[in-house]
Amino acid sequence: MNSKIRTLSEELNRNFKERDDEIAGSLLAMISGEHVLFIGPPGTAKSMLAKEMCRCIDGGSFFYYLLTRFTTPDEIFGPLSLSSLQADIFSRKVDGYLPSANVSFLDEIFKANSSILNSLLTVLNERRYHNGSEILSVPLLSVFGASNELPEENESLEALYDRFLFRYYINYVQDETNFVELILGHAEDFAPSVRLTIGEIEALQRGAGGVPIDEDVLDAIVVLRKEFRSGGISISDRRWKKMVWVMKVAAHTIGRDRVDKTFLPILQHMLWNRPEERVTLRKRLLEMAVAGGINIEREQKDLKDLHASAVLAKDFSLPVVVTCTSCGRTFTTWKELQNHASYPDHTYKLPDGDELYQVWKHRVSPRLLPSLVELFATKGTPVILSMTARDRELYLGEIDDFERELGSLEGDLGRERDELLQRIEGNLWLTPGDREAILAEYDRELRKGAAPRPTGTDPSDD
Ligand SMILES: [Zn+2]
Repeated sequence: MNSKIRTLSEELNRNFKERDDEIAGSLLAMISGEHVLFIGPPGTAKSMLAKEMCRCIDGGSFFYYLLTRFTTPDEIFGPLSLSSLQADIFSRKVDGYLPSANVSFLDEIFKANSSILNSLLTVLNERRYHNGSEILSVPLLSVFGASNELPEENESLEALYDRFLFRYYINYVQDETNFVELILGHAEDFAPSVRLTIGEIEALQRGAGGVPIDEDVLDAIVVLRKEFRSGGISISDRRWKKMVWVMKVAAHTIGRDRVDKTFLPILQHMLWNRPEERVTLRKRLLEMAVAGGINIEREQKDLKDLHASAVLAKDFSLPVVVTCTSCGRTFTTWKELQNHASYPDHTYKLPDGDELYQVWKHRVSPRLLPSLVELFATKGTPVILSMTARDRELYLGEIDDFERELGSLEGDLGRERDELLQRIEGNLWLTPGDREAILAEYDRELRKGAAPRPTGTDPSDD
């Protein structure tokens, strides 16, 4: 199943450049039984994309329609049955129209007028159609809607907008090579080598119901809901519920036994109401996809503490070898240098220069020279001037513990990154762009947390 969807996705992506998001989302929407809306300027191949998505379903029935302000119920739901009318029954012949379709594409969907809106909403939401006195169960998986613009302010149209869980704002193709391919190509000839059957989709849906959701994913959703509310954006409980459902389907379809936080970025196509919200939303979801697990923020403070302590520990070794220019001796530890500094008129130099130093600032002989203590302090390695032998031993013991902890933390972080990599690599619902962004976000968080870490006694590592 996984490989079939992968093949479909690859073939669609070859045919439609720069539409990775829309393709992944549309496949997932059809498998989840959710509706997809394409919004964007004219000439962005929205309609063609929607049509091609329908071709990925095998043996289903399709219904396409381009709506205008004057579209009548007959055109969408089927003509009135004359024989029924003769018997005083109001009934439509729905075969070949929306109520009998598995997948439907409604172009210019927000042109829908009041004569069809209520029935349309019921079909989309409840998968039912009131045909005269009869209530039909509608076999609809997904409706693809397309529009050049967001709906006008109108309660019914906004309700219709809300029915589309997946929303894509489609822009013109950006890359010039892709553009040339697009204008020379024949996207309309596209025929996938594999197709999904309705039966396969139903089986996937049955299996998805039992997929558990990780605790940190639920936590993230609660946080998101709170953030949206405080930002004055309300998202219906029904929508949240559908989003959880889609994540379950997404996990089950690629053979995962649970929904982990790397599925959160999928929600970037479901949580915006206005196109300008997309960038912030995506960023937030990427953050959430890498947060949790090892709590990087919490570790950040620990690592800083570790670093501070380790830096102090290094004071027992000098950051560089110091040579006494007066007697030629070299020093690698603070203790030796400190003892030697009891010769007040000796001067010192560092391996990388000829400048002369004295050890302490207050020893002014034979002349005033820069102080090594101050120099080392500005390199971020403050020197401890006095410490009893016993204190030092305790201190060094503590440093050993710190360094062990640091080592194991680094190991954990490395393992976590590997696991993250594995999780996102195998997730075909994330586009290559999403995957890259998740890893970049993870590494950014990691650098923020673990950047200042000591290695050996070389100050250049800091
Ligand atoms: Zn000397």
